[in-house]
Amino acid sequence: MSNRNHRFETRLIHNDQSVDKQTGAVSVPVHHTSTFHQSYIESFGKYDYSRSGNPTREALEETIAQLEGGSSGFAFSSGMAAISTAFLLLSKGDHVLISEDVYGGTYRMVTEVLQRFGIEYTFIDTSDLTEIKQKIKQNTKVIYIETPSNPLLKISDLQRICQLAKESGCLTFVDNTFLTPALQRPLDLGADVVLHSATKFISGHSDVVAGLAAVRDDALAERLAFLQNTFGAVLGVQDCWLVLRGLKTLHVRIQQSQQSAETIARYLETVSEVEKVYYPGLKKHPGSEIHFRQSNGSGAVLSFRLSNADAVKTFVTELKIPVFAVSLGAVESILSYPAKMSHAAMPKEEREKRGIHDGLLRLSVGLENPDDLMKDFEGAFKTVRAKNKVKQDIGSI
Ligand SMILES: *Cc1c(COP(=O)(O)O)cnc(C)c1O
Repeated sequence: MSNRNHRFETRLIHNDQSVDKQTGAVSVPVHHTSTFHQSYIESFGKYDYSRSGNPTREALEETIAQLEGGSSGFAFSSGMAAISTAFLLLSKGDHVLISEDVYGGTYRMVTEVLQRFGIEYTFIDTSDLTEIKQKIKQNTKVIYIETPSNPLLKISDLQRICQLAKESGCLTFVDNTFLTPALQRPLDLGADVVLHSATKFISGHSDVVAGLAAVRDDALAERLAFLQNTFGAVLGVQDCWLVLRGLKTLHVRIQQSQQSAETIARYLETVSEVEKVYYPGLKKHPGSEIHFRQSNGSGAVLSFRLSNADAVKTFVTELKIPVFAVSLGAVESILSYPAKMSHAAMPKEEREKRGIHDGLLRLSVGLENPDDLMKDFEGAFKTVRAKNKVKQDIGSI
């Protein structure tokens, strides 16, 4: 059934896991077992204990490896578990260079945990290659990238960064949560470890928390497998099944959401209450050319800036359709307020330095009809406009 030459959409449905070899079941069986009977006293079977390996988890791990163009995949109990386990590849005295507007949880892991273990870090603007070159130190072991970044959708040049990293003897980790392998495959561009919060687009239905990693190099795979088993933050089988189920529709979901996101981004550019729109699909978005060299789509997440926190409050209160919540990448549109949500772990001063303004909102576009979403927005903007007018009138009395 499986053919690696098939296109991505086909491989989502027909892969090595699409039919259970023992029973012919077309849905991966959920192996609810912690341990496995061993037939011989001296030679154990392929599986012995589910933390070390479980057939349901393995089905998901092989699937993500194939979709990312890797040789091995790993499933974790959350995106943060995947990221934190990958960081365990580092040792005391090592240094990591990291995108400055990285996911808030990753920021917290680096600044509050790794730091205690004697791992040094420098946050930089990874969209600036010269800055990367200047900041690589003798002990830099990892360059950690999110592109597009969160929440400003900054673009970093993966191919050139991976090349720089290789020349300096360090690994490149890429958090590919925003685009997924449907739109961007960092391993093909030279990255060493691809990480995912599978909680987002990969599973796509806001019903599971999960993390994934994929690598191409066998020696690195062995080290990560050792760490996964040692640290033990593995994904439970029921959740593995949910992720596998969500994955089948990844391509159609992300294509549809992306198309709507493009329409909505262009609409937001015409709204007077919106000071700025951040979306790689807009031609004037910085790095847009690099983005389309390394990926085949602009994704379904965009951010936009209103004048201040008051305008945000009014806007959010008036909206009816999007869920106002943390998270992204689901069938329902999700509106987030980075200053108080994804980046709440970052001190205000650090946040503002990174451009995460009090008027900034992030929208992950779902599968609703975009006309309904825009109509909903239009209504909310009208109220923001009316309130501003009242303020101005009072001001001029
Ligand atoms: C959500 C998210 C994470 C963390 O994943 P969890 O599954 O919530 O642990 C990491 N990186 C990015 C870009 C995310 O959006």
